[in-house]
Amino acid sequence: MSRKNSKSVRKKSYLQSLFSKFGQDIGIDLGTANTLVYLKNKGIVINEPSVVAINQKTGQILAIGQEAKTMVGRTPSHIVASRPLVNGVVSDFEVTEQMLKYFITKVTKGSFFHKLRSRVVVGIPSGVTEVEKRAVYDATRNAGVRDVFLIEEPIAAAIGARLPIQEATGNIIVDIGGGTTEIAVISLGGVVVAKSLRIAGDKMNQDIIRYIRNNYQLAIGERTAEDIKIKIGSASHLSEKLELQIRGRDIITGLPKEQIITDVDARKAIAQSIMTIVNTIKIAIEETPPELIGDIMERGIILAGGGALLRNLDKLVTNVTKVPCYISSDPLTAVVRGTGIILEDLDSLKEVLIPLDIGNRPKF
Ligand code: ADP
Ligand code: MG
Repeated sequence: MSRKNSKSVRKKSYLQSLFSKFGQDIGIDLGTANTLVYLKNKGIVINEPSVVAINQKTGQILAIGQEAKTMVGRTPSHIVASRPLVNGVVSDFEVTEQMLKYFITKVTKGSFFHKLRSRVVVGIPSGVTEVEKRAVYDATRNAGVRDVFLIEEPIAAAIGARLPIQEATGNIIVDIGGGTTEIAVISLGGVVVAKSLRIAGDKMNQDIIRYIRNNYQLAIGERTAEDIKIKIGSASHLSEKLELQIRGRDIITGLPKEQIITDVDARKAIAQSIMTIVNTIKIAIEETPPELIGDIMERGIILAGGGALLRNLDKLVTNVTKVPCYISSDPLTAVVRGTGIILEDLDSLKEVLIPLDIGNRPKF
């Protein structure tokens, strides 16, 4: 290496260290239910609901994250809670941008200089359109950061679950979030088979609301439905009986009423959605190239996302698909931990990022 070159290398590494000193590398799991933010060298620094409270009369944003979720249902009717990513895609671009800006500003402590130097990796659902990719990219970029890289969430979840995704073996990951279920067979850092369903945690909550209304003539809200799902919900028969006392409004008298709900109720309510998810996993396996089937049989199906925590879902998946199924450790944080691992090693993991033809290709 000539002296000139070595000098420029030294200069570059000096600049790089300056960047890393002032800039911050940020990983974001932009989930439909929860947004998590990972800061390099710090770990997960934000874990809040993807909710924005808006004053409909003025269009003003009143609160974001946990504060906004707490406001829901307790405020005058012109204040509404918006979940800008409720369908797993950017359904409300402006609100998504505001939410991202808020979280990024929070972790960069509002420093313009910090933001200007930050590199951000954002997980987005696989199978989103170019327009949606562009929307997430722009929303993040508009938050004022230097570089934005997108990664498909199932790949980030697989990296977070420590699956050897860059090897020539097949891995299958199922990420059950709020708005979407993503099923992906991954090999050599790419998605070989992908299925995306709009049936996930939110749909199960809606199923429970409808079931309670039809069977107990009781109107309940989403929060109660989610409570039922988490506290007594299951995908198949449980060895112990579970019960929960709930409160709702009697739809005939219009008055408050208490009711005991059992695990059988909860299971029946969500059964159809669960079967759709499990059957789609089966279809994904059927579509997997034969060379990868052996790997999948051996390594098993990995469940991630909040839905992975539903009782006995792993058992049901194993029974239906005949492939052993496991729950990833800490499934709610798998995607954001995956983005964190990518940040620690951007050079060797850059191949797994989504190439963007929008003027800012990944530069390293
Ligand atoms: P997203 O990535 O879409 O933001 P998450 O992975 O954060 O979604 O998962 C949120 C979903 O997981 C919600 O629908 C929530 O009700 C559900 N969930 C969380 N814990 C449990 C549990 N123990 N059992 C069943 N569902 C759960
Ligand atoms: Mg998710």
